[in-house]
Amino acid sequence: MSTTISVNGRDYRKPQRPTVVICMDGCEPAYLQAAVAAGVAPHIAALLAGQGSYFRAEGVMPSFTNPNNLSIVTGTPPAVHGICGNFLYDQATGQEVLMNDPKWLRAPSLLAAFSQAGTKVAIVTSKDKLRRLLGHGVKNGICFSAEHADKANLAEHGIENALEFFGMPLANVYSAELSEFVFAAGVKLVEAKRAELLYLSTTDYVQHKHAPGTPEANSFYAMLDRYLAALDKLGCIVALTADHGMNAKHDPLTGQPQVIYLQDLADELLGRTLEAGGARVILPITDPYVVHHGALGSFATIYVSDAKDRERLSRGIAATPGVMEVLGRSEAAERFELAADRIGDLVVVSEQSWTLGTSEHRHDLSGLTVPLRSHGGTTELGVPLLINKVCKAPHLRLRNFDAFFMALNQVDVAPTASITAKTVTHA
Ligand SMILES: [Zn+2]
Repeated sequence: MSTTISVNGRDYRKPQRPTVVICMDGCEPAYLQAAVAAGVAPHIAALLAGQGSYFRAEGVMPSFTNPNNLSIVTGTPPAVHGICGNFLYDQATGQEVLMNDPKWLRAPSLLAAFSQAGTKVAIVTSKDKLRRLLGHGVKNGICFSAEHADKANLAEHGIENALEFFGMPLANVYSAELSEFVFAAGVKLVEAKRAELLYLSTTDYVQHKHAPGTPEANSFYAMLDRYLAALDKLGCIVALTADHGMNAKHDPLTGQPQVIYLQDLADELLGRTLEAGGARVILPITDPYVVHHGALGSFATIYVSDAKDRERLSRGIAATPGVMEVLGRSEAAERFELAADRIGDLVVVSEQSWTLGTSEHRHDLSGLTVPLRSHGGTTELGVPLLINKVCKAPHLRLRNFDAFFMALNQVDVAPTASITAKTVTHA
């Protein structure tokens, strides 16, 4: 039997031990450092001190959740897997649609490939929006979301009576507990020998609200630390990375969000609206869960077919304070490894403390109970890659989508014949 599996042009070794890749949503590296400095993350501190390996890695653009999660599970950039945002303007139908459907996927995930080769695969995601994309092609595996754990059934999710099995109550979709559920489930699945290759994907609810080093953030990372230690104790190889970082996107004096309303700006620059044949601004951060960020991020794309209009917009937007860059379609596709047919004619990236909106009246910011923190730009590309074993990087420019490669190929440990069942309690 072959011991390696080739997926999307890369060879991966079959897991020698239970192998867990964690996508810690919105994990700006400063969160880990602050939690360690505060003394609330002793396991991570030990890993950083030499028991494990820490690398500074880079995510993919746009630095949003879906493109990066799909990059991590396929080991490829969006140009290959095709998921260029949470949200897309489908030129074929003229509809603005969510990219939650596997029909948008252009590459198989390595989770699917491993499961088809007989490895026991489990995927636990916090929000249900990612479940179908992440679980596409997975055979005889487990794939469910913490959000809808109460609805998990054998036929569709590979698990039933999940709340009872994991001993956790159903968590609110806007809560830290939603992510804790993911970790508790991961530990339990390893203990019960239900999984050899796991992918755990959390939500960035806490990071959108709380800066690194705040009591709320530190308590969240203390929780992470306990579960990392528990997985380590069970003999797992664990690689933690993130989909994107997170930055303050508000005026430091007033706390008000700093927003460039691109649709309003485009209408003004062209002297006509979308309905009158003007430009269409798409924010690929948009998803069904916008309360904590008001659909404001640092990346936008614009559909504008006329070359002169394009030129006018490009110049006008680039000259607007807070805008970092305006790129044409092919330039953006090349620079950011995006599928050119899944982005607009222009791509706009804002500076670190700014965000991009559509029209002011279309954003409901009433849910922003604390000053806005968000992501989407090149300033949120820096992510951690933390492994609980000493290992070497295969190349210089590490990406978050090297996480499975690192965990499966770069760690040399003796295979575990059996893992003694231990009971891990969650605080
Ligand atoms: Zn995210």
